[in-house]
Amino acid sequence: MNSKNKCEIGNEKQIRMCVACRKREKQSNLYRLQCINNELIKFTGNGRSFYVCEKCINSKKFVRYISKLCHFNKDEAKQKILTFSFSILH
Ligand SMILES: [Zn+2]
Repeated sequence: MNSKNKCEIGNEKQIRMCVACRKREKQSNLYRLQCINNELIKFTGNGRSFYVCEKCINSKKFVRYISKLCHFNKDEAKQKILTFSFSILH
């Protein structure tokens, strides 16, 4: 049916905000992540998620955001970001 196609095109064009720099980007240009059980993971399709752009992966703001959201201290947050393989997402 036509409505399904429309929906898919709509998703591609959806604009989302990077949690660190607050820049708006197409959803397809952002990484969608979430925190579950104290782990930083790729969005599973359920629960709360957030977006981050490629430039901000290593930014201090992102570390701060992650540490608040996932209840890590800053060193833990840095470690989680470092060990997270962002490359698998794209
Ligand atoms: Zn950003």
